[in-house]
Amino acid sequence: MTTPARHSLAIIGAGPVGLEAAAAALELGFDVHVFERGDVGMHPTAWGHVRMFTPWSLNVGPASERLLKANGWNAPPADECPTGQELADLVLAPLAATEALRGRVHTHAQVVQVSRRALLRHERIGDAARADEPFRLLVRDAGGRESVLHAFALIDASGTFGTSAWAGSGGVPARGELYLAPQMSYRPDDVTGLRRERHAGKRTMVVGSGASAATTVTALAQLAAEVPGTTAVWVTRGAAALDGEVAGDTLARRAELFAGARALLGGSNESVQHVGGAEVEGFEYNTGTHRYRVTLQCGEQARIEEVDQVILNVGYRPDHSITSGLQGHFCWATRGAMKLSAALLGADGGGDCMVAPAGGAELLCHPEPNFFVIGAKSYGSSSAFLLRTGYQQAADVLALLGSKLPRD
Ligand SMILES: Cc1cc2nc3c(=O)[nH]c(=O)nc-3n(C[C@H](O)[C@H](O)[C@H](O)COP(=O)(O)OP(=O)(O)OC[C@H]3O[C@@H](n4cnc5c(N)ncnc54)[C@H](O)[C@@H]3O)c2cc1C
Repeated sequence: MTTPARHSLAIIGAGPVGLEAAAAALELGFDVHVFERGDVGMHPTAWGHVRMFTPWSLNVGPASERLLKANGWNAPPADECPTGQELADLVLAPLAATEALRGRVHTHAQVVQVSRRALLRHERIGDAARADEPFRLLVRDAGGRESVLHAFALIDASGTFGTSAWAGSGGVPARGELYLAPQMSYRPDDVTGLRRERHAGKRTMVVGSGASAATTVTALAQLAAEVPGTTAVWVTRGAAALDGEVAGDTLARRAELFAGARALLGGSNESVQHVGGAEVEGFEYNTGTHRYRVTLQCGEQARIEEVDQVILNVGYRPDHSITSGLQGHFCWATRGAMKLSAALLGADGGGDCMVAPAGGAELLCHPEPNFFVIGAKSYGSSSAFLLRTGYQQAADVLALLGSKLPRD
């Protein structure tokens, strides 16, 4: 039986926060390995056409920057906002390719499940002695081969983008949604670029009221100006509220996005129709006309919309099934890290993600010793997460782990 070094650390996910944690771990002398189920930066690449609302100065983690600069990297202009693709290409890929990280970032290596070696979840409840056994990771490669790896510390930075929320009323699938999900989109699609043909001259329904929905509808309005016959119906649960819109926003790009979206809600563009105060009840697809029939409930009234395409930008959910063998403590409402979620609910930031609660690594601790969920996943279903917060989480958690798991 192999027992890893005491300062061994496994990180799930080679997104911006997982890689920042890896870079910080190297500085502290950890034997760190990152497991990524796809390619490095897979999630920002999936929304690669979207321009971020935070500038480069907030998008590159400090430990990542130190490692990149030691490898001759030229920082992009601090005040420019990159696209998701630029973040992946100019920061994440070069970072994972540095000599220090190259052999430590394992792509196409999906973490299937994690437990403690020889300990069930309900054994030694909340007992610090659980830390005496290493974490046991079941990892599957691209060919389906499985291996078991061990580490004394575990950071889950696997994000939420891989698990979309459901569009149906109450957050469960609407009638027909489970069946039709594979042919509808749950992403902020590139409707003016890669997916242009799907939407040009067509009627598209967009459901959602956050930044992703605002981005998609704004792009459809632009497509409508270029291609006659393109229309959008924008369905929101609230009458006029936009999730993530902040009074006196300090992020100019985000303020601009929401100002434009608010104008569209107000009827500024005749190609975009807004249906507010609506719950999604059901989807049907007509294989003859290739059109969707969507049933909405607006107060007491049912309403039917017929459209060619459906884009559901209704948010993302953390998938804690991979760590279900551990004593994780998650919020019953958001499914984020429990103490962090409580601090976020009590924070006086008016929902602005630029205002993150103080509390350091303590907010990220679970009954399971040396287990941390950081990055977008730590916020659960809340979309008020910023990379800057994730980078601070990585520094806080590594400082704590460094004091508990010194080099052998
Ligand atoms: C459209 C969009 C725009 C955004 N714009 C901004 C912005 O302007 N500014 C900002 O600060 N934030 C923004 N965010 C929010 C946030 O910063 C991003 O979601 C960011 O990618 C989160 O980084 P992360 O490292 O926590 O997770 P992710 O980038 O989601 O990375 C998680 C990684 O884990 C991998 N993974 C998942 N499960 C497993 C598994 N079982 N085994 C192995 N690997 C696994 C995934 O493949 C992925 O590569 C935006 C988000 C979206 C969706």
